[in-house]
Parts: sequence; structure tokens; C-alpha cells
Amino acid sequence: MFNLILFGPPGSGKGTQSANVVSTYQLQHISTGDLLRDEVGRQTPLGVEAKRYMDQGLLVPDEVVIGMISSKIDESPEARGFIFDGFPRTRAQAEALDKLLEFKETEIHLVISLIVPEQELTRRLIGRGATSGRSDDTEEVIVKRIKEYYAKTEPVSDYYNAHSKLERVKGDGNIEETFRLITKEIDKYLLPV
Ligand code: ADP
Repeated sequence: MFNLILFGPPGSGKGTQSANVVSTYQLQHISTGDLLRDEVGRQTPLGVEAKRYMDQGLLVPDEVVIGMISSKIDESPEARGFIFDGFPRTRAQAEALDKLLEFKETEIHLVISLIVPEQELTRRLIGRGATSGRSDDTEEVIVKRIKEYYAKTEPVSDYYNAHSKLERVKGDGNIEETFRLITKEIDKYLLPV
């Protein structure tokens, strides 16, 4: 099994690059943003609670997200591995993920951190807001999401760096160039299917 975290601020290209990684390496994609938006769309109790945070650009409480991830991992016992996109976003989530994977006798092998300057992030997200239909892609909420990222999520990279699992990849080039840099790192562990 090979488990990868794609790490980076909102607008760094995690979603786009995850799709490329999934089709090249046949990993099971787990995006907490997508899972939460699905719950919101179906108006489940979890979705109704999560929306209150998402619309303010705040992180959804750890216990909500961790429970969701746990059942998602259990749904794919035969997976070649997982790619986590937008998770973990706090130290508590990172520690919970380690415990979940340890229970399955596996671990996180690699964390790829996409590096993109803040100005470029805002530019991309505002551009996406014009077509995404996401209620959190307004300028006001985008600023809050980026702030929340630097306050709570960026420190999670230190956690993985301390375990020698972190690789930083330049994410401000075009999609193909960034993907090439990502595959260079993954290929050290796993060959494309
Ligand atoms: P982005 O990375 O562009 O902010 P996401 O789709 O990953 O977009 O997340 C959208 C929103 O969903 C976040 O602003 C947050 O409210 C919530 N969310 C997603 N993943 C998590 C997580 N792991 N922990 C807490 N909240 C999350």
C-alpha cells in the first residue's frame, strides 16, 4: 500500500493534481472538501453543521472530519493506496490519521507540499469563483480561508517534516509542469499503472 497526502493552501491546485495522480497511479482519492460538499448538497445533519463553518471560511470541527475519513477508508479495503486531498488540516487530524492507518498496519509514506505565492492563490480562487458555484469562493471568504490555512494547517507540515516525509514542490507553474514535479517524487515509491 502507498499513502500520499497532497498538502497546500486553498488554490494551490490540490484538486486538479489529485485527479492526475489518481488516473496515473490508481490511488483511491479522499477529498474532505468534496465529501463535505456532498453532505451539504444532501442536507444531512453533518452537512447542515459543516456548512455553517465552510461559508465563513473556517475549518469544520476535527471530530466531524475524522469520523468521515474513517468510514471512507473502510469503504475501500482493496485500495492500492490513498491520496488525501485537503486532509489533514490540523495537528489533531494528522495524529488521528496516523492512528487510523496504524490500525490498518499501514502509514503515510509521502507528503507533497505545493508551494504557491499568496498573491497567485487569491488570483486563482477569485477566477474559479466566477464558475465554481461554490458559496465559499467569494473574495471575503477566500481571504478567511487563506488566513485559516496559515494559522492552523501550515504548521501540520512541520509534523511531517519531523518524520522526514515532507517534499516541497513548486506549484505556481502550469498544470503539466507541476504534475511532472509531483510524479518525480511519487516515482521514488510507486510506479504508474
Ligand atoms: P480549499 O482547499 O480550496 O479551501 P476544500 O474543498 O478543501 O477547498 O475545503 C473547503 C472547505 O471545507 C474548507 O474551507 C473547510 O471549511 C472545509 N474543510 C475541508 N476539509 C477540511 C478538513 N480536513 N478539516 C476541516 N475543514 C475542512
